[in-house]
Amino acid sequence: MDKTNKTDIKSLTKAELSDELKQFDFPSFRVDQIYDWLHIKFADSFDEMTNVSKDMRKLLAEYFEIKTVKIAKKLVSEIDSTRKYLFELNDGEYIESVLMKYKYGYSICVSTQVGCNMGCKFCASTLNGCVRSLEPSEILSQLYAASKDISQRISHIVLMGMGEPLDNFDNVLKFIELVTNKDGVNLSARNITLSTCGIVPKIKLLADMNLPITLSVSLHAPVDELRSKTMPVNNKWGIDEVLAACKDYANKTSRRVSFEYAMIKGVNDSAECAEQLAGLLSGMLAHVNLIPVNNVEENSFIRSDDSSIKEFENILKSKHIAVTVRRTLGADINASCGQLRRSNQNKRR
Ligand code: SAH
Repeated sequence: MDKTNKTDIKSLTKAELSDELKQFDFPSFRVDQIYDWLHIKFADSFDEMTNVSKDMRKLLAEYFEIKTVKIAKKLVSEIDSTRKYLFELNDGEYIESVLMKYKYGYSICVSTQVGCNMGCKFCASTLNGCVRSLEPSEILSQLYAASKDISQRISHIVLMGMGEPLDNFDNVLKFIELVTNKDGVNLSARNITLSTCGIVPKIKLLADMNLPITLSVSLHAPVDELRSKTMPVNNKWGIDEVLAACKDYANKTSRRVSFEYAMIKGVNDSAECAEQLAGLLSGMLAHVNLIPVNNVEENSFIRSDDSSIKEFENILKSKHIAVTVRRTLGADINASCGQLRRSNQNKRR
């Protein structure tokens, strides 16, 4: 008989798996075998575990669930081979991931929630709120499925897909623990970037943990009045509080904090905004990433002209603020998160 609430086996560390398997009296080498199947060979079912006996596989399937993501749709950019995946979860929900190729290797942008509750006005992921948070296994599975798809190692992860990672704090931390573990894909924590809209108490908690990951904060405006117009979260924690938490993070971890700044025509792209932003970040261990805003069908935000972006960049540079303009990857496949899931939802309606 199947257990009704099956344990999510891919969210377990090796020590936790070993504890769970004690009830079956398996020899201890089975723990290594099963963990390898899940986290090295990326098995999606117990039936794939061919060096485990059939009886054992049956027993495992009765007690455990392997959470997977299935490729429901894949778009490959003809310009730069960026891949955008629409993944289906075991319960039929959909999430998105984007795989990008850089000089230093592959980087995947993964989702942490189905939808999002943060309500940023320019973002397609949040239009219908958050359906649920992802389990650690479901965040891992995005990396595993994409690695399998390209048959290559992916060395960098950005938690910058659908959802707010700090609104799914425990599962995101467990994911980081699993993905950096030497028993699994053994990714360097330095190659992980976590992006947040600015949930201050959670930034503080993260700083205290002193993990060598990069914190990226979606700022998008240099003054509260403007930021609150597009980012409701700013009504709870204003820019001063967010920046104080970032300084604390940089001091405790000695890591440079990144600030995302989506350039929206006529909204936040003036020379005055650039001066204000430079003033805010002056003297801080920081880096600004300017992102031409992606057009989303449901809203009316338009990307800034290249000339305004250049001017904005130059002002920051002249004030000695480290700044880069994000290269637009996958422009032909609409590779910004939330949009593929929405078009899929709209079609099914
Ligand atoms: N919730 C987290 C991570 C997911 S959003 C956060 O807010 O950081 C990832 C990044 O994409 C954020 O910087 C977000 O503000 C930005 N973003 C959302 N919609 C966008 C759009 N239409 N164009 C450009 N950037 C967008």
